[in-house]
Amino acid sequence: MSDTANPPKAAFPFIKIDAGGRASLTAVRCKACGSWYAETHRLACARCGKREFETAEPTLTGKLHAASIVERGFPGTPTPFISAVVDLDDGPVLKGMLRGVACKPGEIPHGRRVKVVFDDALGRKDAEGNSYVSHFFEPA
Ligand SMILES: [Zn+2]
Repeated sequence: MSDTANPPKAAFPFIKIDAGGRASLTAVRCKACGSWYAETHRLACARCGKREFETAEPTLTGKLHAASIVERGFPGTPTPFISAVVDLDDGPVLKGMLRGVACKPGEIPHGRRVKVVFDDALGRKDAEGNSYVSHFFEPA
């Protein structure tokens, strides 16, 4: 995944890539009630209203909360694909593309176990030729 001339960049602020090219998720957790958010910064907790957070790395497994088959995406996005919302086991909720599953409603049941994987973001590159790393969900 790593190219020393053009190292990949994270497609989202909550994806961190270390010097060795290993990607991970970063989330914030409310210090008062423990609620998680798949974000790098948050002003206030949606559950308790407190404003103190700590940064943490959530586990990369969870359950499918919701999914939609997308027939028409923005230009360059192959369709159909499955847009999914996943409840990660530690608590954050994360939206992303589910792959490794047929784009048929019966193949994407609520509660299905999935894992987060990191991969090239559909071949997109910036003006300098840097690729991007994004998160995807796959069956666990
Ligand atoms: Zn809270």
